[in-house]
Amino acid sequence: MNKQSIGIVGAGLCGSLLGISLARKGYKVTVFEKRKDPRREEMESGRSINLALSDRGLQALERMGMAQAAKEICIPMKGRMIHDTEGNKRFSPYSGRSEDYINSISRTDLNRLLIEELDTSENVVIFFETSIEKIDIERSRVYYTVGAKSVYGDFDLVIGADGAGSIVRRTMQKEIPNFNSTSQFLSHGYKELEIPSAGKGQYKIDKHALHIWPRQEFMIIALPNMDGSFTVTMFNPYEGKAGFNELDEKQEIDQYFDAYFPDLKPLIPELQDDYNNNPIGKLGTVKCYPWHHKGRVLLVGDAAHAIVPFYGQGMNASFEDVYVFDQILEEMETIDWGEFCEKFQESRKPNCDAIADLALDNFIEMQDKVDDEDFIKKRKLEMKLEQDGEGYYSKYSLVTFREDMSYKEAMIKGRKQDEILLAYCAHDQFEYPTSKQELNQVIDYIKNKLNE
Ligand SMILES: Cc1cc2nc3c(=O)[nH]c(=O)nc-3n(C[C@H](O)[C@H](O)[C@H](O)COP(=O)(O)OP(=O)(O)OC[C@H]3O[C@@H](n4cnc5c(N)ncnc54)[C@H](O)[C@@H]3O)c2cc1C
Repeated sequence: MNKQSIGIVGAGLCGSLLGISLARKGYKVTVFEKRKDPRREEMESGRSINLALSDRGLQALERMGMAQAAKEICIPMKGRMIHDTEGNKRFSPYSGRSEDYINSISRTDLNRLLIEELDTSENVVIFFETSIEKIDIERSRVYYTVGAKSVYGDFDLVIGADGAGSIVRRTMQKEIPNFNSTSQFLSHGYKELEIPSAGKGQYKIDKHALHIWPRQEFMIIALPNMDGSFTVTMFNPYEGKAGFNELDEKQEIDQYFDAYFPDLKPLIPELQDDYNNNPIGKLGTVKCYPWHHKGRVLLVGDAAHAIVPFYGQGMNASFEDVYVFDQILEEMETIDWGEFCEKFQESRKPNCDAIADLALDNFIEMQDKVDDEDFIKKRKLEMKLEQDGEGYYSKYSLVTFREDMSYKEAMIKGRKQDEILLAYCAHDQFEYPTSKQELNQVIDYIKNKLNE
């Protein structure tokens, strides 16, 4: 049994799953988490924040034997329910394949589940309400306080799983001369609201869909919770048309929802309170390099690669980090953390860059392309290909449902397919294929073009 010691800063989604993996392999794991123990904490003002968990995340949970327990607190979402300004709804399945769906899961419940499991191991010590403010990256040393006393712990490896604003990453940036880090923020922020349950756990709108109210420069989405409610997220620019800065007064909020979301407004009885009480969150992409320092400190999850949420992949990518981490560790006969961290970074960095870029593309696509005629034709054709053709995966499906394919491969293939299909749809004589045979001919055409 290996008794090396690992310090993990952050017991969020990535840090706690990684802790489980390391403790099972016999490492002595110490976890520092600035928040309270989620098992003891009442949900803050009853607010529930949920996330879309898809195949890459589930694959990592499966490797840790946690997928079944997670699925028990998931609500499958089989497609998008698009709501227009007239109140019309259109359901669009993710692919038409029965196995291709995503899952709505509460961040708090998932985190609690992972921490419960983490804490069952005798190899693990967790310090809650312990915010790490200082680390020594040369000594793999973490400074923390116990009661009023300042102490430190030395580890063989310190892992920064402390999210987008990572103190571990900021320390690396300060201390490593060739460390590059960029944080690129969007001109949009987000705010959460709630559609409460219809009573007795019943839902006011279809619970098996991810609801979207797309309005070009801004949009709203809603994901179901287990108790019958939906967490609603507004994505708006800070300034300009529909800017958060223009939605201050009760009347402005009312008018805005009446004009753009008339079907949604009556579903949110506490609209004014939710709007005024909930903060505006920032949306950004963090890219940095290197992800480790001499094999003594390593970044994982959002600390290494925070992305914008428009592909629903941030947590999934962070869980995929754990999957790859576990796999590489298992394959190495003797542990040299420098070599390990190089391998991990080499495997993950290009893929996390890819999903970061795809998520940004999606944000731009959602705003700029919704009215583009060829783009609309392409979307419609692609939906037919996925639903009634054989073996076609759109870029979204490659990213979301093909955990056997890396993000980078999915990006390259998906982008190429998009180009081929856009050119195909722009053709003068373009007509939608009608029979299965015609659809499969289009799929063959795409395959041939991809191989050119
Ligand atoms: C609006 C929004 C919607 C999203 N939707 C989705 C989605 O649908 N699907 C999806 O896959 N992803 C989604 N994401 C992304 C997802 O939330 C993140 O990618 C994921 O939480 C990353 O996990 P993590 O453990 O790396 O970081 P975090 O979840 O941020 O965890 C970091 C942990 O470190 C702790 N910490 C921080 N600093 C310190 C410190 N100094 N000392 C000790 N502890 C510290 C924090 O308290 C926290 O517990 C969304 C993100 C946003 C903002």
